[in-house]
Amino acid sequence: MRIAVIGVGHVGLVSAAAFARWGHDVVGLDDDAAKVATLRDGRAWFHEPGLQELLDEVVAAGRLTFTGDPTEAIPGAAAVFACVGTPPNEDGSPNLAYLEAVARTVAEHATGDVVLVEKSTVPASTGRRLEQVIAREQARLGSTHRIEVASNPEFLREGSAVEDTLHPDRIVYGTSSDAARDVLRAVYAPVVAADGCPVVETDVATSELIKHASNAFLATRISFINAVARICEQVGADVQVVADGMGHDPRIGRAFLSAGLGYGGSCFPKDVDAFAHLARAVGVPFRLLDEVRAINVAQRDHVLDKLRQELWHLDGKTVTLLGAAFKPGTDDLREAPAVHLARALLAVGARVRAFDPVAHAAMAAEVPGVEPHDDVHAALHEAHAAVVCTEWDEVVGLTPDDYVRGLAYPIVIDGRNVHDPAAMLAAGVRYHSVGRAGAAPEVG
Ligand code: NAD
Repeated sequence: MRIAVIGVGHVGLVSAAAFARWGHDVVGLDDDAAKVATLRDGRAWFHEPGLQELLDEVVAAGRLTFTGDPTEAIPGAAAVFACVGTPPNEDGSPNLAYLEAVARTVAEHATGDVVLVEKSTVPASTGRRLEQVIAREQARLGSTHRIEVASNPEFLREGSAVEDTLHPDRIVYGTSSDAARDVLRAVYAPVVAADGCPVVETDVATSELIKHASNAFLATRISFINAVARICEQVGADVQVVADGMGHDPRIGRAFLSAGLGYGGSCFPKDVDAFAHLARAVGVPFRLLDEVRAINVAQRDHVLDKLRQELWHLDGKTVTLLGAAFKPGTDDLREAPAVHLARALLAVGARVRAFDPVAHAAMAAEVPGVEPHDDVHAALHEAHAAVVCTEWDEVVGLTPDDYVRGLAYPIVIDGRNVHDPAAMLAAGVRYHSVGRAGAAPEVG
């Protein structure tokens, strides 16, 4: 099948490469000329494990090409996947202007019947809006091709995006005709045959909602355990053992019950806000989601409180952030807790260093004033405190001695609970983690 993928970013590029691996002929279209040039040069423009190797393979096989020109991508495609961004507006609603632009482009350049597939995360009812845009454009242009809108939400996780896409835990698509459903079936037939993953075939609005409900639920679990962690700190309980104890119940499970700095990234924060916005818009306020968001923001503030508790004021103090990316395995800084912390620390006069094995330079560009490091020991040297933000191997592997020898004051705020409190205390580190009360010794 000939497939066009519009927007070759974190979702689109990985999806395009997977479609090509499954034997389809794929063209990736992006309006960012620099990204297209990098991809035509044979290089992925962002870091994702296994992506470069997959690209090398499918590009060499002649199954994936890139262009900035819609006339090279859309004519002849049976399916066009829209993978453009849907970033948040001020009020929490997603900005759907990029997606609308895609609908217009498809209406203008389609040379036959085609299914426009929303892979971007969108609120329920977006499909209907896109159909309206397409119908208007087609009327204006005198085009009569049948362009149907389908929904096929993406569940990949950055850091394991290639693996998640090649071996999905489920495939969900929503269509409004048998013809569109058959196109989606054909797209995914190779991976369903090879992997036997479950397929949920449904209508467009239900498919759109599955994505929102999934991300909102996962974010809720994270905020739930973070709220529990705050209580643990007050009553002297250990949140990790609480989560383990809960997780043994098969109705609960252990996943997404790790207390820490909270969720970040390009999806959870915006998707929680977008779902809350949609709920308000349809007259069914989902206040739980407002609380999920508030708890998440409070986790970052709590780290600042702990730093102040240790260092008194932060003006002129040097704080090392261990990890910048929102999670290991990616160089994505969107809504990364470390970015929020860096901005807050700089605003009160602290000097901020950031270690990250892949996102150090991007961090310095994102937050001017941050001193970037790709060497974790250099980042620690003579700083007044360190904050664990991302569970990179280089950070998890730090020993109590590394902190004691490296830092000016051995103060560690472990925002990801990666270290052993007993070992840290035994080595003389003033160690705070999340929801593990009693981990820090009294000021001595
Ligand atoms: P991204 O910013 O990495 O990629 C978007 C790409 O679209 C960019 O390369 C941009 O240049 C391009 N683009 C924008 N407008 C365009 C246009 N009119 N024509 C051609 N190209 C255009 O974004 P992403 O992280 O891949 O996210 C895309 C969508 O997928 C979002 O809705 C997001 O919520 C959703 N999603 C993301 C993830 C994730 O982990 N990143 C997971 C699941 C779903």
